[in-house]
Amino acid sequence: MAVRRADAAAPADSTARQQIARLAELPEVRRAAQEFRPQEARFVQWQLDLARIPAPPFGENHRSEWLAECFRELGLADVHTDEVGNVFGIRPGSGRLFVTLSAHIDTVFPAGTPLNVRQQGTRLYGPGVSDNGAGVSALLAVAAATRELGLSLAMPILFIGNVGEEGEGDLRGMRHIFATPRWKDSIRYSLVLDGAGCDTIVAEALGSRRFEVIVRGPGGHSWSDFGVPNPILVLARTIHAFSQTRVPTSPKTTFNIGVIRGGTSVNSIPESASMRVDIRSTSMAEMEHLEVTLRRELELATAEEAQASEQRNPSQRRSCGLTHEVVVIGSRPAGELDANARMLKVIRAVDAHLGNAAQIQRASTDANIPLSLGREAIAIGGGGTGGGAHTLQEWFDGSGRELGLQRILLTVLALAGVTS
Ligand SMILES: [Zn+2]
Repeated sequence: MAVRRADAAAPADSTARQQIARLAELPEVRRAAQEFRPQEARFVQWQLDLARIPAPPFGENHRSEWLAECFRELGLADVHTDEVGNVFGIRPGSGRLFVTLSAHIDTVFPAGTPLNVRQQGTRLYGPGVSDNGAGVSALLAVAAATRELGLSLAMPILFIGNVGEEGEGDLRGMRHIFATPRWKDSIRYSLVLDGAGCDTIVAEALGSRRFEVIVRGPGGHSWSDFGVPNPILVLARTIHAFSQTRVPTSPKTTFNIGVIRGGTSVNSIPESASMRVDIRSTSMAEMEHLEVTLRRELELATAEEAQASEQRNPSQRRSCGLTHEVVVIGSRPAGELDANARMLKVIRAVDAHLGNAAQIQRASTDANIPLSLGREAIAIGGGGTGGGAHTLQEWFDGSGRELGLQRILLTVLALAGVTS
């Protein structure tokens, strides 16, 4: 079923706008917002320090230690690191439920990647300076701002530096948090900081399921064993049938066969063949449908190839040893924020107040986990501008970063609620 969403040009809710205007005009909040610009050099230093610590997937421990130390220096309460490396710190409030502000600390770069991190004017260069140096720096900037605020929070703010967002990390940090008894039912709003910028609101969680399909057979000589079932032909039949599956444009659903391998030489019947399949959608139901289709077509193709091998050589017997296996190599749940969600009203009202134009986007971020559980979550940028993410040419420019930081601060304070 297609669900219509409020588009990016929708006017901000007037009650929310009034609330944001009142919040922004509090002298304490104005002072905090004005403090961002003069502190730019401090934010840059955090970003450079972080980017110089390698953090390949499953190797984030040095960054966890560094971040826990920063959290302590910024006076957060209950600073600790969990068993997978997620770092937590709390700015206390009177309520029981939390607003979380999180940024992933891992990078896509494997261990041993040369980290030539450097600064030229307002620009920073180096792997990870923006994704997620910008997010972590903003996390710390807001933690610092809430320290000096002088207002009481109705809901406590839970600051999180989490592991395992990128690629093979498969959102393991966030997944772990939402499976931890202390947190799983006490997080009301999740505000995720990922990368630079302030012109997007990720409110739709793009889900993905990734598979390695492996087919094995007895193999043999192309001439003397002619007729023996061929794993490459099983894959070919599967791909042919699966690729004709119809997918909806809304919710957008896609599939891809990205890698195919198998065989050893032109005159051998291969003993094995494999392929890698990527399925994506914002709808869990559509992803499940495609997975079921893939498994069914593989089943059918195996049976057809067994039968065809008999026809090629009638002396072949049916039980000729074709097997297949489907290994899940990635799984990110899908979900989307309700068009009437409070977080959406708040961020739109903040953007309207700041005169900031932002578009709703669909992406795969740490927000996928809470969104798939029906919780309120969005992902936004840490301000400034950046580019070349996931490449060695990655860069970040901190000019105008204060707009992004004000946006984050107002959003998190509006969600938490303040009293003077
Ligand atoms: Zn990122």
